[in-house]
Amino acid sequence: MPTRAPRAGSAVGNRRRKTAAQRGYGGRWQRYRLLFLSRHPLCAECERQGRVTEADVVDHIVPHRGDLELFWRPDNHQALCRPCHDAKTARGE
Ligand SMILES: [Zn+2]
Repeated sequence: MPTRAPRAGSAVGNRRRKTAAQRGYGGRWQRYRLLFLSRHPLCAECERQGRVTEADVVDHIVPHRGDLELFWRPDNHQALCRPCHDAKTARGE
């Protein structure tokens, strides 16, 4: 019965981290983000709470989790300030 040699290197080094561009956040997204923020300069979440805060992030209302259709759907985008976006992300939304 032949002994199976462990496949060297198969476990290590395969899980390369994707770059921001590979996740969809490439130049096209950067341009879109600037355009979106110029049209929606205020944080939507702060606005709901009666605060006026400059938005810094284009957030996906429904997490896209790599789904490009969801990623680019305009009605899935909202402008958020950094603290609101971080809080939303921390909640797993
Ligand atoms: Zn905010």
